[in-house]
Amino acid sequence: MDCMVCGSPQVEIKFDLEPGRQILCCLKCGVEFLFPQLNDEELKKLYSENYYKAWGVQGTEENESTKQMKIATFQLRLSLIRNYVASGKVLDVGCATGYFLEAATEKGFQPYGVEFSEYSSRIAKNKFGEEHIFFGTLEQCSFAAKMFDVIAMSDLIEHVRIPEQTLSKAAELLKDDGVIMIMTPDTKTVSNNLMGRRWTHYKLEHFFYFSHGSMSYLAGKCNLHIVHYEKSKKALNIEYLHTQYNVYRHWLLTPFVNLLHALLPAKLRKKNFYFSIGEMVVILKKNKP
Ligand SMILES: [Zn+2]
Repeated sequence: MDCMVCGSPQVEIKFDLEPGRQILCCLKCGVEFLFPQLNDEELKKLYSENYYKAWGVQGTEENESTKQMKIATFQLRLSLIRNYVASGKVLDVGCATGYFLEAATEKGFQPYGVEFSEYSSRIAKNKFGEEHIFFGTLEQCSFAAKMFDVIAMSDLIEHVRIPEQTLSKAAELLKDDGVIMIMTPDTKTVSNNLMGRRWTHYKLEHFFYFSHGSMSYLAGKCNLHIVHYEKSKKALNIEYLHTQYNVYRHWLLTPFVNLLHALLPAKLRKKNFYFSIGEMVVILKKNKP
């Protein structure tokens, strides 16, 4: 299997994520990837079982502590973005029900989104208008070239089958002086070194695992470059972690979080704290012609 980002044949097996499915590491660009990827049917099954439950979105009920926690995280991202672009059209790729776009609208941006889930996209369409939200993938969307000042991809690039295709399409939709913000797991982090194969971001639905080096390589292939890189901080609360770690069970974290959940009063369980959890945020710009 050649590297799915740079094409190098120098790829080694890191470990088996499950029998017959491995995490591979490219010795040239440094990207790690799952091989073989889950097929569409397997993915659909996995998402319908785990995903919305884990994110505190069940039926039509959106968990309030999850919502305000996510908005707090998005406000951090927005203040970073506003160092580069202060207004204009923002496209959130994988916008879900539109929390990031709500936060962006409050800061004066015009909201647009792409969402793969029909259920979530319907909720987002009700909030922002039929023409502002595309139901499907970024590659399929019909927005005009060079339409956007900002394109945001939080927890997105690790899920796509061919990152180069997704990022190239984003570059095509971006104005010449616009920025792309990517948040994704980062393999060059303390948590990855400490936890190894037990790192919480190693999941069957995560096909790619980047670091600064491999992200920079991918950006270059799409005629983009990194102008800012940082270890990402996320707002978290115990209520949310309790839901997450009882769906994605972890030998140490699940009992630990359950203990905290049992000990703390409800108000403290919903209080946000900011924590770096093995992810990066990068800002990309187009290369000058
Ligand atoms: Zn590679």
